[in-house]
Amino acid sequence: MSSVKSSNLGYPRIGEKREWKKALEQFWAGKLEKGIFLQEIKALRLAHLKKQRDAGIELIPVGDFSLYDHVLDTAVMFGLVPKRFEYNGGPVSLETYFDIARGTKGAVASTMTKWFNTNYHYIVPELEECTPALVENRPLQFYKEAKEKLNIEGKPVILGPVTFVKLSKGYKKSEFKEVVEQFVPLYATILAELQAEGVEWVQIDEPILSTTLSKEDLALYTEVYQTLKEAAPNVKVILQTYFDSVDHYKEVVSLPVEGIGLDFVHDRGENLTALNKYGFPTDKVLAAGVIDGRNIWRENLDEQLLTLSEIEEAVSKDRLILQPSSSLLHVPVTVKNEETIDPVLKNALSFADEKLKEITLLAKAVQQGKESIEEEINVSKQAIQALNGSSFRNHQDVQKELKQLHSYKAARQVPFDVRQRVQQEAFQLPLLPTTTIGSFPQTKEVRKERLKWRKGELSDEAYEAYINEEIKKWIEIQEDIGLDVLVHGEFERTDMVEYFGEKLGGFQFTKFGWVQSYGSRCVKPPLIYGDVSYEQAMTIKETVYAQSLTNKPVKGMLTGPITILNWSFVRDDIPRYDVANQIALALRKEVEALESQGISMIQVDEPALREGLPLKRENWDSYLNAAVYAFKLATVSVQNETQIHTHMCYSEFEEIIDAIKALDADVISIETSKSHGELIYAFEKHTYNQGIGLGVYDIHSPRVPKLEELQRNIDRALQVLDPALFWINPDCGLKTRGISETVEALKVMVESAKQTRQNL
Ligand code: GLN
Ligand code: ZN
Repeated sequence: MSSVKSSNLGYPRIGEKREWKKALEQFWAGKLEKGIFLQEIKALRLAHLKKQRDAGIELIPVGDFSLYDHVLDTAVMFGLVPKRFEYNGGPVSLETYFDIARGTKGAVASTMTKWFNTNYHYIVPELEECTPALVENRPLQFYKEAKEKLNIEGKPVILGPVTFVKLSKGYKKSEFKEVVEQFVPLYATILAELQAEGVEWVQIDEPILSTTLSKEDLALYTEVYQTLKEAAPNVKVILQTYFDSVDHYKEVVSLPVEGIGLDFVHDRGENLTALNKYGFPTDKVLAAGVIDGRNIWRENLDEQLLTLSEIEEAVSKDRLILQPSSSLLHVPVTVKNEETIDPVLKNALSFADEKLKEITLLAKAVQQGKESIEEEINVSKQAIQALNGSSFRNHQDVQKELKQLHSYKAARQVPFDVRQRVQQEAFQLPLLPTTTIGSFPQTKEVRKERLKWRKGELSDEAYEAYINEEIKKWIEIQEDIGLDVLVHGEFERTDMVEYFGEKLGGFQFTKFGWVQSYGSRCVKPPLIYGDVSYEQAMTIKETVYAQSLTNKPVKGMLTGPITILNWSFVRDDIPRYDVANQIALALRKEVEALESQGISMIQVDEPALREGLPLKRENWDSYLNAAVYAFKLATVSVQNETQIHTHMCYSEFEEIIDAIKALDADVISIETSKSHGELIYAFEKHTYNQGIGLGVYDIHSPRVPKLEELQRNIDRALQVLDPALFWINPDCGLKTRGISETVEALKVMVESAKQTRQNL
């Protein structure tokens, strides 16, 4: 290699206008014939490769494209099909592939879970009762396709064996090493076949290297990669890490591979520090992730060149590859089609296509000197300066409030037991009060009316009247059912973050800024680009109206600061937690407004608290402390009588129980029905002494639960929890459920509460 190279790690699958999603869904619906579907998909795949070449990228990833998920692709390449799906060996058919991902009438889909700390979900491979075999060499196929069709010398991307097995289930932790060793010969074959085909570079993704690693894991890496090297000595393997710094820099850069891929954006400076301190092996190539693959801001090229000059002190140009910090799967495709965004903001954005350009510019500057891109440097600098200097990022009141926080102690006036007494006096709730999590069914009709209103076909007044009717209907239903604490139903919201983002200052919504979340499902995260300011009441009208219809308490319903933060693209010119606190301060105004209008139970949802956890344990505390602070900032200024609720829809929270306690919510409702035993055990171990509602039935299925089941769940919980603190509620919001099943299930729930009360 004679000069610095530009590279990419992965490109979004979905297409500029979500063509990929549309093709998939039409195929699933039987509206697109298989042959045509496959043709369309192939055209997209090739178009994406071509785009990368046209942008000037030299090492173009192949095999990163997927029809659903790259972890599932890897599993089927090894013939790992769970027993419940019919499979007789050989390459896995398209039908079986989608069955594993989506389930069939007779067989449930494999579960999915979050891909590290991103909002992308992968299909969890099931290893039990499966013997892995290499049933097709996918990287080879895609390499050949790119070469034949486009004359592109692609860089196959493969999910590495250690990470693959770590992300799988169905084996004993103690057998981890043996399981990995089962896969190594298969990887060796893949690489040997690639070598025979004349492939030069291969990217093997091992993001597990950026998590907390044990000594055994590290030793295993050495063994595995030594074997792979022997199997294909002429293939240049780049061992790729991302999303954080590597845990053991010295050991990782010494692994027996040709190149090491490091993230220099999301590493909190640690990779660069280690590089400066320990240097970099002179016989290896450094693939340096210098453009943010997780966020959407244009790079200040000047600053990145500074980082690069530091890197160049340890690595010579001819051993340097420049690339994004991770796959571009996590950002939208292009800024180009966003026609309605304010130019000052639009100019400061960079999605996948723009990022590729930035990579090639940096490569040019390193190769030919900074002067060679002087003009582009100035353009990038000015774009960022313009946004930083704009009124969006200089909201005086918001900044003043933020500064004053230094002297602010975020705590309720009195401890929980005192609050509990005054609140009980005020609300007079029965033991085991019943409630729901917030949303009621968003029927087709609700969505249709909202769409009409958005298109201007329905006046504000008419839409408001429609929403009020829904609220009224559901207040009556809730009273009939006999629930103790009611909600207004969230009919005015499409999405729990979007709704608030549209009303707060500092948020922008894009037209085509989609990213894949799971399967064909895409989300369009808001951009938090400016100071977050409170511009208007957000939930007062609906909540106060609902409360006016009933004597029972109606819970106000807000999305919490950390969830809003974690589900958005966040500005990176100020610390992330300053943004969280800005959101919290704005929410606090809403909390206080609700309180002053007589709403004395307020729920602040934080379903995304856990998923924001950093990859490495050692960084958990700082995240959790900041998260707890932001939540409290939004909630603690209320009177003792005001009851603060929160909700989280996952149950693995034994590890973060201290943070959950520190939120100091008067009542927390959490998901339990899917993992009852475990959660109860967690509570036994770590006494939780504030109000708590354990979800007593799973809302993800339309099935109406049986009284005995609920009874069992409640009895189990009451063996550990104080009945005076226990609430009865479903697992999560009921937005996706039908009306009749919702009413039926809630009736059963209220009945089970009544019966349990009698037996106490
Ligand atoms: N209040 C929200 C609802 O009921 C909570 C949603 C969630 O936890 N994801 O829809
Ligand atoms: Zn939930």
